[in-house]
Amino acid sequence: MNSTHSISRHALVWFRHDLRLDDNQSLVAACQYAAEHQGLVRAIFFVTPEQWALHDTAPIQLDFIERQVNQLAIELAELGIPLDICHSDSFEAMPAQLSQYVNYWQISKVFATSEPECNEQRRDHAVIGAGVDLELSQQHCVLAPLSVLNLAGEMYKVFTPFAKKWREIAKQVPIQTLARPEPIAAPLPSPKYVEFNCAKSCSHHWPVGELAAQAKLRQFAKDKVADYQASRDFPAIDGTSQLSAYLAIGILSPRQCIQVLLSHSPDAIVHDDSPGRCWLNELVWREFYRHLLVAFPKLSKSANFNALADQIKWRNNKQEFQAWCEGRTGYPLVDAAMRQLNQTGWMHNRLRMVTASFLTKHLLVDWRWGERYFRQKLIDGDLAANNGGWQWSAGTGCDAQPYFRVFNPISQCEKFDPTGAFIRTYLPELESVELKLIHKLKIHSQAQLFVDTDYASPIVDHKFARTRAIAVLSAMKKGSAKALQVKAQQVRQVGSDSSVDLDKEIFG
Ligand SMILES: Cc1cc2nc3c(=O)[nH]c(=O)nc-3n(C[C@H](O)[C@H](O)[C@H](O)COP(=O)(O)OP(=O)(O)OC[C@H]3O[C@@H](n4cnc5c(N)ncnc54)[C@H](O)[C@@H]3O)c2cc1C
Repeated sequence: MNSTHSISRHALVWFRHDLRLDDNQSLVAACQYAAEHQGLVRAIFFVTPEQWALHDTAPIQLDFIERQVNQLAIELAELGIPLDICHSDSFEAMPAQLSQYVNYWQISKVFATSEPECNEQRRDHAVIGAGVDLELSQQHCVLAPLSVLNLAGEMYKVFTPFAKKWREIAKQVPIQTLARPEPIAAPLPSPKYVEFNCAKSCSHHWPVGELAAQAKLRQFAKDKVADYQASRDFPAIDGTSQLSAYLAIGILSPRQCIQVLLSHSPDAIVHDDSPGRCWLNELVWREFYRHLLVAFPKLSKSANFNALADQIKWRNNKQEFQAWCEGRTGYPLVDAAMRQLNQTGWMHNRLRMVTASFLTKHLLVDWRWGERYFRQKLIDGDLAANNGGWQWSAGTGCDAQPYFRVFNPISQCEKFDPTGAFIRTYLPELESVELKLIHKLKIHSQAQLFVDTDYASPIVDHKFARTRAIAVLSAMKKGSAKALQVKAQQVRQVGSDSSVDLDKEIFG
């Protein structure tokens, strides 16, 4: 018809943390672009061991990524799309490398999913600066960062009003996923497995592939979502979805999770008492932390959200930190949780809160040490959720547990592992210790309790540690006055009916 139509234009999909073919906006857009311009589609993934080391990406997560990228290569080949797995020394090297690649293959446009972290955003700006036509989608969230704002047009700093606004918007937009594109060319031969040249540890407990992830999601939504609220705090019960590893590297999209949730619990967004509401809330927490990372880039640079926390004098005792890392604090729930992390690469959410509180409050170790250790171990390591969880636990975050609330690791154990099933799984030393003694740690002389076992004595007395934590962390006192102001402001904005929730959120 006209000359532009006779020139083929090729598209490139740059896979990062969106390692899937279903509901992948970048892939769909690339295929549409190529079809409109009689072009072809290629795909690329960068292996960046040095960058991963700088980001403390866990060896188990790298193994999981390697396995999924190779699975992706096979499925892309079936669509006629070759996936190039390329090495890059660092993010700094990528703009030149990508620009060279694009020129070599005569690619006109590159499609990718945006990432909320600061280094990743800087990398993408540099790629655009190098002349690459890069189109970014915001599909790492259901609602794009900076689209859920308060009346003043600012990002919320408290979760409850953010979630309310998130639901108001989500109610009005259809939550639909995108189908996997049709083959764009003849199928290619199945590619050979490519090993990443970096330190990895076995992730085979977690099956890769979208089919496996989607089946796990559907089964959870069908069998467990209704009981989630009642069972989610008990680590011995298999009551949570265990989908975080899949969401973290994008084998699943958050939109897919919500679509499947709504197919079993259609009123989860609109009704507070819907059986699906509690799980929906967790997905909204995920969005909250991602939005915060974009609105406050200093969070990616390990800054305290609350600047008053800069005054805290952390003790940072290396031996105590090491004991915490190895599960040798003498507090059974903390130790069993840390051993779960070390042995499996995953930890239950209740235990992430208990262990993070113990490190930052009982031992007064800077939350950044714990955040880094988690990143080095977690299969679901994710900067936004990890930073948010650690700052919440330490009380330094924007929507944080107040500094004066200190989890009691003994009563948490009594309440959330009442039969001792969880602690006994990871602490065989306690096999012969009576449960009631473990749960009554507080009324026993510490040295006597575990005298006949190989188990450590408590590293610090709970009461003493609690008093010390409150004294040291009161550097953030003005922060709680600020929380009161925020509360009053939110109540004015959203109406008095939410004041009870806000009270709970700020004061527990
Ligand atoms: C100190 C600390 C560190 C954490 N670090 C991470 C991390 O690195 N990566 C990570 O994915 N989550 C992190 N979390 C959040 C949470 O513990 C995990 O997402 C959850 O335990 C994963 O298990 P699940 O998939 O069974 O979750 P479910 O209970 O089934 O929840 C469904 C999904 O919602 C999201 N989600 C749930 N809770 C939260 C939360 N509090 N914040 C943000 N997203 C949430 C996750 O994507 C999760 O897969 C952290 C929490 C704390 C307190």
